[in-house]
Amino acid sequence: MEIWRGLAVAGLVVGLGAMGAGRVEAQRLPGGVRPEHYSLTIAPDLKAATFAGSETIEVVLDAPTTTITLNAAEIEFGAVKAFVEPEGVVGGKVRTVVPGRASSGSFDSASRDETARGSAQDDRGVGGLEAVVMLDEKKEQATFTFARALPEGRVTLKIEYKGILNDKLRGFYLSKTKARRYGATQFEATDARRAFPSFDEPALKATFDVTLVVDANDTVISNTQIASDTAGPVAGKHTVVFTTTPRMSTYLVAWLVGDFKCSEGKTDGVAIRVCATPDKVKLTRFALDSAKQTLHDYDRYFGIKYPMAKLDLVAVPDFEAGAMENFGCITFRETDLLVDKKDGALAAKKEVEEVVAHEMAHQWFGDLVTMAWWDNLWLNEGFATWMETKEAAKAHPKWKYEQDAAVEMDSTMDEDAGRTTRAIRARAETPDEINESFDEIAYGKAGAVIGMVENWVGDEVFRRGVHEYLTEHSYGNATAEDFWGTEARVSGLPVDQVMQSFVAQPGVPLVRFGSVVGDAIPARQGRFFLAAPTTGPAGNAAWTIPICQKDGGCKLLGPEETMLAWTTDAALFYANAGDKGYYRTDYSVGQLKAIVANAETRLTVEERIGLLGDRWALMQAGEGSVGEFLDLALGVKADPSATVLESALGKIGAIGTQIATDKDRKRLDGVVRREFGGVYAGLGKGGRHESDEHADLRETLFEALGRADDPMVLAEAVSVTNALLAGQKPEDAAVVDTAVGLVAAKGDAAMYEKMLRVAQTATDPDLKEDALHTLTRFQAPELVARTLEYAVSDAVRSQDRGTLIARLLSQRETQDQAWAFVEQHWAEIERKATENSDARIVVAAGAFCSVERRDEVTSFFAAHPVASAERTLSKSIDSINDCVALRAAQEPELRQWLDAHGG
Ligand SMILES: [Zn+2]
Repeated sequence: MEIWRGLAVAGLVVGLGAMGAGRVEAQRLPGGVRPEHYSLTIAPDLKAATFAGSETIEVVLDAPTTTITLNAAEIEFGAVKAFVEPEGVVGGKVRTVVPGRASSGSFDSASRDETARGSAQDDRGVGGLEAVVMLDEKKEQATFTFARALPEGRVTLKIEYKGILNDKLRGFYLSKTKARRYGATQFEATDARRAFPSFDEPALKATFDVTLVVDANDTVISNTQIASDTAGPVAGKHTVVFTTTPRMSTYLVAWLVGDFKCSEGKTDGVAIRVCATPDKVKLTRFALDSAKQTLHDYDRYFGIKYPMAKLDLVAVPDFEAGAMENFGCITFRETDLLVDKKDGALAAKKEVEEVVAHEMAHQWFGDLVTMAWWDNLWLNEGFATWMETKEAAKAHPKWKYEQDAAVEMDSTMDEDAGRTTRAIRARAETPDEINESFDEIAYGKAGAVIGMVENWVGDEVFRRGVHEYLTEHSYGNATAEDFWGTEARVSGLPVDQVMQSFVAQPGVPLVRFGSVVGDAIPARQGRFFLAAPTTGPAGNAAWTIPICQKDGGCKLLGPEETMLAWTTDAALFYANAGDKGYYRTDYSVGQLKAIVANAETRLTVEERIGLLGDRWALMQAGEGSVGEFLDLALGVKADPSATVLESALGKIGAIGTQIATDKDRKRLDGVVRREFGGVYAGLGKGGRHESDEHADLRETLFEALGRADDPMVLAEAVSVTNALLAGQKPEDAAVVDTAVGLVAAKGDAAMYEKMLRVAQTATDPDLKEDALHTLTRFQAPELVARTLEYAVSDAVRSQDRGTLIARLLSQRETQDQAWAFVEQHWAEIERKATENSDARIVVAAGAFCSVERRDEVTSFFAAHPVASAERTLSKSIDSINDCVALRAAQEPELRQWLDAHGG
């Protein structure tokens, strides 16, 4: 799955915290039953928002039993019967139900009993053994109890049931546009059970035959190709039968009902389609090109051909996550798949490219080979995150994905340096715990650790390990040990030791380097915390870290102090080459001085981002002052890389928000205008042949200066915005979105109306989303109130509600008003929003920076708990505490620095 890359993503980090008490008991199925094949016939009624299901599941029982327990939620059961295969075919692949033929006499008589009661007729007129169904709503399980024991071996369950097409974007759900209704599915992590009773655990793989009975004019897309499409069974309907899937997990099954239209292509013999609602099919070409290239690249990289006969990528009007990797049928939020190939913004294209690469990587990592249980979710998400950057960077070298990855790793390490962080592999038993584990640790940290290991063992060796691991576990399941065991064997290096240390224990290592001793530099490690005291005891929090020197080799650092070779004093000592290592660094005074002096000429962009990030983290932890950090950040003001500048300016902005008083913030703004104004002016205007990098630089500085109230920039923003609102094509496309946001912050009701109209009427998904997000930039209290009301109104899709509120809640200027609204309207928010939306609000509440607010947030969510955000809440409280401590420690330091620097 692609977690939605909005505001809250970086904050979706959770911790083990002190909230373990009262946890729901484990909800795994009891075992003893292995599903082998499902046949599903689903007949949705989009108008009534319901569906009827008819299902057979072929299972193998380990021992005779009178009960079978599987997963079901919001399912209304009709008849449930068991049929036993005739003797002699056990082990064969028999798909037809063989009624009433039992392998034991008692079963036979039971069948006759059922038939005699007339309560169990199948289409052959002979009954199976009917079950009594007991539901356990809390566990989302159903237990079938039979009057006689079912024998060991093969049994076929036949289940009739009804379900609802819900509006919570999970299971089989309803999606709407102005034109019509759609039926869509989202099963990861634990929601297949809302669409069909199932053994809904990732290791219980089976094959699936899916059949949909839909309105005559509707089309259906599912995991596999269409085997047959016939009119009936009643007038006005048709029946679409799909070919049998390979062995796969339940959470990867998918089907979509509606009038989707597709653009089509072919790569390596595989038919690829990109589909959308008919009005948006014109926006599918970019993703189609991207999918074609990616499939070819992955076929070669993995050394295993894409395992399905076709691949569909479908944009769904209502969609909770960013995208979902259903085997052969990937579903997307519209903004993550659709973009105008010619006129789309670069950022929008980059996003689509990356999300397509992410989901397609899952076809191998996740779909072909699946984690045995959700505690190893990182085997799916870490790999897809690492692979998306690798593939996108290969396909578009000019788009600088490696720099984005460096920025992301920096923010991940900040999250991971909180006291309530978790290990990559951590307990996830209940659906709430499982949902909560789709966080920055499973994605960002795991992806970074994989990248670090690849960098250490070498690309080709690592690739061979990946190939062997995938080959060995194809159509099956795997654990962390399977992966690093294979990589260790293939590389001959202790990959297992390194990966285990990063996967099994939480937190970020800090590596400190001492002064040169002879021809070596001593290195030692500890656990780094963002709030003082900086490092915890080494003890059991010791990693095995590949330390790779710039222009040098790599050496493993264990718990003991280790000497790194250092022979050339002409070279620069920089101990995180390429910024590939997942650790913070602290150099001796002399080493740091040399690094800073040579940063622009000798370090890569990624390394400069890493350097800024490490110094920023150490300052927050109380090592070094905010003034020293500001000196470093202002030192890169002429950096030719927009990403480096953005990184520095983002941290200066955080100083304004988290440390400065209102008065000091104005002085800090003055410093920003003075220091960066000239740099911006020096860049000139963007011409027709402006490079992306130049445009990026201008946009970055434009935004920072605008936020710092630079009158020239604000005047320019007004003129750009006025032209845009008057319907003119923007002259300076690079700054137009930023300009609108800056103007909106001070905007009035008239401008708000215009933006609202765009949000309501735009057909381009990116434009619509931008307009929606711009509504959250308006700061006039009456307009903030309107946006909050709008967020809970029926005019907003439920996928967007939480985001709107969360954005207002995380901005200093609007957070108090947003919090008051959340407190007053919680019941309505909870009723209308999805669970992830609620979780986003919990994350955003972590943006406060006072003891008073911390206590309010704590007591409010104690009284109104969000089940899938228990650990997220402790993380948010942690963030507020860290901010309070940082302000207390650094506010006087900041004032002193401002006094000395003429702010
Ligand atoms: Zn994913």
